[in-house]
Amino acid sequence: MLTSKVDNSCRFEGNLIHVLLGHEFQGSVDAIHQEVNVVLIYFGNMFSGNQGLVPRHCIQCGLWLTAQEKWQLGCVICEGIWPDLRGEIGEQLMKERCALHRMWTGFRLRENAALERQIHALKYQGRRRLGLRWGQWVANSNNAPTAEAQPIALIPVPLHWRRQWHRGFNQASWIARGVSREWNAVVYPKALVRHSHARSYTGFSRQKREDLADSTYRLGPNPPDAAIPIVLVDDVLTTGTTIRACASVLEASNREVLGALTLALA
Ligand SMILES: [Zn+2]
Repeated sequence: MLTSKVDNSCRFEGNLIHVLLGHEFQGSVDAIHQEVNVVLIYFGNMFSGNQGLVPRHCIQCGLWLTAQEKWQLGCVICEGIWPDLRGEIGEQLMKERCALHRMWTGFRLRENAALERQIHALKYQGRRRLGLRWGQWVANSNNAPTAEAQPIALIPVPLHWRRQWHRGFNQASWIARGVSREWNAVVYPKALVRHSHARSYTGFSRQKREDLADSTYRLGPNPPDAAIPIVLVDDVLTTGTTIRACASVLEASNREVLGALTLALA
């Protein structure tokens, strides 16, 4: 009785497998299990490993990213047309706006609609984990600062508490978290605080912008040890006023600012 039940259930399982595999299977129950295992291992490799539990798709065209690096965000075709500024070109462009020792940026803003949507989704639609993934993408530019300094402190440019409360998170902190995974650095989200709620510096003269920015940021409750070199992190670099103001606050407290990293350059 019991044997026949087991037999029946195996036959039922076998029939299901026939349907799933799409072909007729002639063989013992062990052979069926073996074939199912092969299928499971095949799918297991596709869905796990470097890619986490979910398969990843190109953020622009949706093509399945199979054998690429875990920080990769686009397929070869889409990434090929992104205004990619990682590496030396971006560093030179940033240094024209901020005179820091090292600079890293991801892409030029307002040249690719898909990337514009990414920034918008990160800042205004609460997609904070996008910041993490884009942080990893920017950090993988083959010129990590690990050769000149180790350890490194990553300090995100802070939002005013009211804006952060309203948004629920600081996008620069999430970008910094992505960078920290690739550079093995530590994020200090409370190293700086923003205590003025001025909307934007746009429209002011350069001198006025500098004066406003200098009074906007101050050292926060949890800065890194003074011996650790700092890389500032923000989402977009426009005039460079914000990065310069944050760097001067940190330098005034006898800290070394090695450079800055932003996701995009406006
Ligand atoms: Zn694509």
